[in-house]
Amino acid sequence: QKAEWAKLVNEQTVSVDGHHVELAANIGTPEDVNGVLENGGEGVGLYRTEFLYMGRDCLPTEEEQFEAYKTVLERMKGKPVVVRTLDIGGDKELPYLELPKEMNPFLGFRAIRLCLEMQDMFRTQLRALLRASTYGNLKIMFPMIATLGEFRQAKEILLEEKEKLQVEGTKVSDNIEVGMMVEIPSSAVSADLFAKEVDFFSIGTNDLIQYTLAADRMNERVSYLYQPYNPAILRLIHMVIQAAHKEGKWVGMCGEMAGDEIAIPILLGLGLDEFSMSATSILKARSQIRNLSKEDIEKHIDAILSMSTAEEVVSFVKEQF
Ligand code: PEP
Ligand code: MG
Repeated sequence: QKAEWAKLVNEQTVSVDGHHVELAANIGTPEDVNGVLENGGEGVGLYRTEFLYMGRDCLPTEEEQFEAYKTVLERMKGKPVVVRTLDIGGDKELPYLELPKEMNPFLGFRAIRLCLEMQDMFRTQLRALLRASTYGNLKIMFPMIATLGEFRQAKEILLEEKEKLQVEGTKVSDNIEVGMMVEIPSSAVSADLFAKEVDFFSIGTNDLIQYTLAADRMNERVSYLYQPYNPAILRLIHMVIQAAHKEGKWVGMCGEMAGDEIAIPILLGLGLDEFSMSATSILKARSQIRNLSKEDIEKHIDAILSMSTAEEVVSFVKEQF
């Protein structure tokens, strides 16, 4: 089987009925690009920049970050690279920021919330990204967006830094798409409002599932509630894709669910445009999608979205596709 998959490295990801989707990879460091290229990734769907900040005792400089982003963009040779701005907090700590302990870190001062307040740190990252933008196809994505106000504020800061760089005479790409993660239920429910202002969405199911079912993604005791195929999750994903497509925007998914064998047929049928997963899952997913018919699955989408339980969804998918 592995040998069969290997033949697909340079192939497109096209379903039986000719529908193309993009299979991208999640990375954490510039070195991870090797795996993306070896496995035929069509882009980077999520560059988790936290690793630049972790395992050290001070913030990374603008120059250090610029080098990392430039390396990834250059090595991806014009293929899309979605860089997520700093998503610290929750399970990922930065001891040198000396933030007070919180009762509920996953509901607390993290990710974009922290960046909008610690603006020097945020602006440094954005400057590094903007300077690197001319070396490839950069897309910038903000994590943990709960309200439209947050997205607007983050985008405004980005535009301010772009303006400053241009005044200083630094070249910045004019084609940087600016999007957001959909990983908080409020943004999924109101996706139609966000869709008018973003260039793209990337659904972060790891957090979306945790917040929708109120089940800590790290807690074994409640792991039975961590249900990717729960009707509530499938309906939220459906809403997000519908809302985005209505505004002509594309939707990716960068949570674990994007590389999941049971989820893939459903996501294809729902119209997901980009699937971002660990590099080692790409060829298997490509092989699976090349044997699926989107039109066929679409005929069953209403039925799937009307199912009552995750178990029902799983057995249906196993039987049908
Ligand atoms: C997610 O929440 O689905 C996601 C991709 O981000 P992370 O796993 O880094 O929280
Ligand atoms: Mg997340």
